[in-house]
Amino acid sequence: MSEIATLSRKADFPGLVTAAGKPWHYLDSAATAQKPQVVIDAVTRAIGADYATVHRGVYGRSAEMTLGYEAARRRVASFIGGREEEIVFTRGATEAINLVAYSYPGVVGHGRRVLLSQLEHHSNIVPWQLAGWQVDVCPLTEDGRIDLDAAEAMLTREHAMVSFAHVSNVLGSVLDARRAADLAHAVGAKLLLDGCQAVPRLPVDVAALECDFYAFSGHKLYGPTGIGALWGRAELLDAMPPWQGGGAMIEAVGFERTTYAPAPQRFEAGTPAIVEAIGLAAACDYTAKAGLEAIHAHEGRLVKATREALGAMNDVTLFGPEDSAGIVSFAIRGVHPHDLGTILDEEDVAIRAGHHCAQPLMAHLGVPATARASFGIYSDEDDVAALIRGIERTKRIFG
Ligand code: PMP
Repeated sequence: MSEIATLSRKADFPGLVTAAGKPWHYLDSAATAQKPQVVIDAVTRAIGADYATVHRGVYGRSAEMTLGYEAARRRVASFIGGREEEIVFTRGATEAINLVAYSYPGVVGHGRRVLLSQLEHHSNIVPWQLAGWQVDVCPLTEDGRIDLDAAEAMLTREHAMVSFAHVSNVLGSVLDARRAADLAHAVGAKLLLDGCQAVPRLPVDVAALECDFYAFSGHKLYGPTGIGALWGRAELLDAMPPWQGGGAMIEAVGFERTTYAPAPQRFEAGTPAIVEAIGLAAACDYTAKAGLEAIHAHEGRLVKATREALGAMNDVTLFGPEDSAGIVSFAIRGVHPHDLGTILDEEDVAIRAGHHCAQPLMAHLGVPATARASFGIYSDEDDVAALIRGIERTKRIFG
């Protein structure tokens, strides 16, 4: 019995059964995680018995809801080692990165040059392009890590930003974030970490990482969709202009002149995702109780078991480093990942097949797509065994 089984149980997750009531071997947690009942309950309460708007109502229920929403901000802040005034609620990591790409130039003026890496998710590429940044691309090492020696050689005083995935959503490789921060700061640039895959899998402490911005999505952390966070250093957020206008982000509005609320409210235009923020706080509680160290160790054991089983098959290519955090990408000679995914689905095994929103990485790997198994707090050895059985069956089908 693995260590995690004593911390959290599959039974906490009502989504992990098929329509026929059989176990569902869900190996697509890197796309989105299943939700524990405590999160479902928190969302149900917030959208039901407790529901009201925030920040405006003079009546008791709204005041309560405002307390709940701001408590959620504190919970998310403490979950990643930040302060509450440094947490901007966003729709997810995508919106968080867009926010920085569009707003940060207001601080740096014309110096819009960003260093990304070859393994970035599209949401850490396209916002920079759309916002008019000049994009440079850091190559990868042989084993699929961001090559920080190359980054050091590439960085110049013209770079205002370095924006890297803390954990790759395809390869599972973990960035040496502290070194990335040192390299960025050495040339006067800021470091944004895309923490989508890191936050559910590793203990994250933004203060220790010494990054400047940290973006993540709630739905990969066992929380609801439609909510995520941007953490930013207070002095940076304070200096950044708003990027979306509307209610709730202002101090005073006039047709001649409008002034804006301080951060983080300045970046939260409109009625926020109240219910989702409260659900995210419940997800932080649930995950923290299980312990991020324990989750990381547990997923590491499942990665090892999966890589060993796949590595023993002579027609399988494994991508990414051995110490991948919770994610195994692979290809089987003669079997398209989509065919594999379809056959595995017949066995109630759910994997991801495709480019994983990382087309430049696929180009680098020389494949149009990979198959990806990714683990979560609820994954166990049975899921790995079902995956391997399904792969063996697929290979028999394809001869
Ligand atoms: N970055 C990484 C590394 C991701 O895995 C994802 C989601 N697949 C994103 C960014 C985008 O997250 P979202 O779609 O929730 O905004």
